[in-house]
Amino acid sequence: MVRTIVGVDIGNSTTEASLATVGGTGSMEYVGAALTRTTGVKGTVKNVDGVATAVTRALQSAGIPLAELDLILLNEATPVISGLAMETITETIITESTMIGHDPRTPGGRGLGVGTIVGFESLAETAPGEPVIILVPRGVDFDVTAQQINAAAGRGVEITGAILGNDDAVLVANRLDAKIPIIDEVSRIDLVPVGMTAAVEVAGPGQSIRTLSNAYGLATIFDLDSAQTKVVSPVARALTGNRSAVVVRTPSGDVEDRTIPAGSLDLIGVKKNTTVDVSRGAAEIMAEVQRVSPLVDVRGEAGTNTGGMIANVRQSMADLSEHALADVRIQDLLAIDTLVPQEVRGGMAGEVALENAVALAAMVRTKESGMQAVADAVAAHLRASGAERVEVVVGGVEAEMAVLGALTTPGTDKPLVVLDLGGGSTDAAVIGVDERIDATHLAGAGDLVTKLIDAELGLGNLELAEEIKRNPLAKAESFFHVRLENGTVQFFEKPLPSTAFARVVTLGENGINPIPTRHSLDRIRDVRRTAKQRVFVVNALRALRTIAPAGDLRQVGFVVLLGGCALDFEIPELIADAVAQYGIVCGTGNVRGTEGPRNAVASGLVASYAAKSLTGDPAIHA
Ligand code: ADP
Ligand code: MG
Repeated sequence: MVRTIVGVDIGNSTTEASLATVGGTGSMEYVGAALTRTTGVKGTVKNVDGVATAVTRALQSAGIPLAELDLILLNEATPVISGLAMETITETIITESTMIGHDPRTPGGRGLGVGTIVGFESLAETAPGEPVIILVPRGVDFDVTAQQINAAAGRGVEITGAILGNDDAVLVANRLDAKIPIIDEVSRIDLVPVGMTAAVEVAGPGQSIRTLSNAYGLATIFDLDSAQTKVVSPVARALTGNRSAVVVRTPSGDVEDRTIPAGSLDLIGVKKNTTVDVSRGAAEIMAEVQRVSPLVDVRGEAGTNTGGMIANVRQSMADLSEHALADVRIQDLLAIDTLVPQEVRGGMAGEVALENAVALAAMVRTKESGMQAVADAVAAHLRASGAERVEVVVGGVEAEMAVLGALTTPGTDKPLVVLDLGGGSTDAAVIGVDERIDATHLAGAGDLVTKLIDAELGLGNLELAEEIKRNPLAKAESFFHVRLENGTVQFFEKPLPSTAFARVVTLGENGINPIPTRHSLDRIRDVRRTAKQRVFVVNALRALRTIAPAGDLRQVGFVVLLGGCALDFEIPELIADAVAQYGIVCGTGNVRGTEGPRNAVASGLVASYAAKSLTGDPAIHA
């Protein structure tokens, strides 16, 4: 008798279904597949909707009515879920009224001007003698501003620069007799102190400032000794790469580069424990994690950022999985150093500085999976929708199924390592020539990459970050062509949307999507690639070291990449490059020779069922 069965893999992000017909002799034919977004948290009854959708679609793709469905095999998901947290560990504070780092979109003029700040209303009474920088409040018309500056200059007043409240720098610059650097869009112009020495610098288009971004440049302008130079060096650093900037020297005003006490992590291993200070950086944290692994749990120092971070991860995991807080244990941790733009405290024009931050991804082992409850609910739901004879069975160890599924990739053999690059975790499984299977679950995967891109570019928009992660960049150079990030040009028949012009865009499946930021293409590309490297190359190597025979990467043989992130346009090659030196064959899986890196676990479930129905394994017939 031929039975219609569907293997279903519920992941953190995606629910995959693999449909097959199995004959009485164990002969099996795959006839359909489908995937959909996982509904709810993996292992909870909310998964039912996603499972029903995937199963129904798989049946539809094969033209099989729901009523003919005999069996659904649900994966016994390992009860691990992942959490993420990010904290800045340094902050830049401006005390008093020093203004730093203001980089308006459209500064005017060019050059470097140093002088005493004079309010616009007193310009008419200013006598020639010392160089001045004019401070023009909002609401003063650009024509009036230009006339007054020209008139004062005519009287012999040496005007070296201007600071404007309005977004008028270019308009004013075009009307001046002599070229001076002009900064505009200073939102809190009332806070800029008159009578102080200031410097304004504007670089030419495509250039960045040279003097105010150099600690010794600041020392020269403001006549600073070595101790004072040390104090202002964060100012210079914060200004690096800007096209324009203004720095005001106030008597006691300071820019402070403060390290926030980050706190420490207690890493509790099976055999060893250790404590590591988070401010020592990711490399050191990860070396310690490696040293004490396997981890039993991780604690953060109470009353510190780290303590808060770990507590948050634990709490959100407890909430999601509906477990008691005490049952939530962290069994893997991935720390990553990042630099994130943060608004400077005490700034006047929304100035930002790049602050050091640490991102932590944690892998949490919960008490047990609630998959049986999901199975019962799926059965009830589908029987009510017409699948009258369907049985739903939980079975199979995820790692085993993934390996079975991966081995359907043409050209693979044992020993084989499967790296499943998912949303929340990087899961690895190995099968040796002796058929022994071993597995490990590492924190950090696709969602962390997205989060890093979002934070490092200061987007505050995870959808946009996801778009950037998945697609190559281009620059719209005219209405009919874009230059791709690899230097080639692509032409279009129809004009591009005007919002794309001169912008950095992503080239996605749904066409061109402008990225609403001021970052250059190179910067966005760099952030994207290093985020992928810091998560996936690091995790691939960690996984291989953990499960390679005797920890020796040279004995690995074949690595098959699976999961959503194996569909990425560059992650597989980044990993392949990193492991090539060990003589490893590494590539994206092609499950069943047709499904690409998708559907491995679901297909493995079906394959294992077919093999067992041949030998009459009672467990799966129950
Ligand atoms: P899980 O097994 O945890 O359910 P998936 O295997 O579905 O997870 O992987 C989810 C991850 O894959 C997400 O981070 C998502 O951004 C990424 N992803 C999905 N499709 C693509 C794609 N076409 N290109 C790049 N990344 C993708
Ligand atoms: Mg998965």
